[in-house]
Amino acid sequence: MRTSNRAWAEINLAHLKHNLFELMRALPSRCSVMAVVKANAYGHGGIEVAKFLNEIGVIHFAVASIEEAIELRRHGVQGEILILGYTSPDRADDLFSYQLTQTIVSADYGRALDERGRKIKVHVKIDTGMHRLGESHRNTDEILSCFNPIHLRVNGTYSHLSVSDSLDREKVAFTTMQLAQFNAVIDRIRSEGLNPGNVHIQSSYGILNYPDIAFDLARPGIALYGLLSNEEDRVVTQAKLQPVLSLRATVSQVSDVPAHHPVGYGHKFIPSQDVRIATVSIGYADGIPKNLADNGGYVLIRGQRANMTGSICMDQFMVDVTSIEEVRQGDTVTIIGQDGTETITAGLIAKQCGTVTNEIVSRIGSRVERVYVS
Ligand SMILES: *Cc1c(COP(=O)(O)O)cnc(C)c1O
Repeated sequence: MRTSNRAWAEINLAHLKHNLFELMRALPSRCSVMAVVKANAYGHGGIEVAKFLNEIGVIHFAVASIEEAIELRRHGVQGEILILGYTSPDRADDLFSYQLTQTIVSADYGRALDERGRKIKVHVKIDTGMHRLGESHRNTDEILSCFNPIHLRVNGTYSHLSVSDSLDREKVAFTTMQLAQFNAVIDRIRSEGLNPGNVHIQSSYGILNYPDIAFDLARPGIALYGLLSNEEDRVVTQAKLQPVLSLRATVSQVSDVPAHHPVGYGHKFIPSQDVRIATVSIGYADGIPKNLADNGGYVLIRGQRANMTGSICMDQFMVDVTSIEEVRQGDTVTIIGQDGTETITAGLIAKQCGTVTNEIVSRIGSRVERVYVS
């Protein structure tokens, strides 16, 4: 796949579908997937990803903000779109008219939103130990009050696990405690004759490590895109995930640099012998982490590895192609993905940069064209 753009991300929709089915296979059959497509679907293109998932039967989506939700609706995405974050009650009209579903982040917030007098769909968030968003599981009366609004329509109740990625004994015990506290809240809501709607707690690692949890929905993000947050993580489920995204750019120039002539800003790379340098048309403003060059970063050109040299610039960086035959202006450069027998994973880059794959892919910038292949 080539485009005339300087940099592009290939999004493999067949892999996206495969990952969805792998996750559905891992879950109990009565549990549906709520696809998390926040942050431009983790850099994969929110509209295209959500529309494709819609076409293959996904009818629950989650995003971080009302702007993301409105964008999906305007482009024809059908079904439930849950906003996971806070939305100002001043946006009640938009929440209602775009038929969005808002998270009740606390009982106070629920009252403020209800006072706007709109029939807005909501899910109530319970904090079971993450301490980020949600009404604390301890505040039973406050929680119950969320299920007696005058105008709002409660369609779901959920929580979020903070250490479901870890199989360490202490972390498993913490997750088990979060689950018990959440179940107690759900039981209490039901025992009061109230309806919690669709109940959900698992994100990707919650599905992969606790596949037997039998709630109504699960909210995978990173695993849908075929990635674990950390490549070397062990997980309980044998799901075979396939990375959806490849990231490519172009060789914009090839030049011979004599020994002892510095390359790039700050003279960070001074070759000890004659070298051939290729300039690559993507930089940190496109999401390439600036510290990748200092941590063993390399790319693939003509199926071979070329080390990053000097420092990564805003729009480009340089690589050493001395040992690769016939590199030419216009050649394709693979930053993430396969070229011949070599593959660079988002997991490797995340590891080199001391972060998670979620950050690497979600920061791929707006100048990078997204190309969809199936
Ligand atoms: C981002 C997010 C998810 C998805 O998490 P992954 O680890 O990418 O699967 C699920 N639920 C909430 C509340 C989130 O913020």
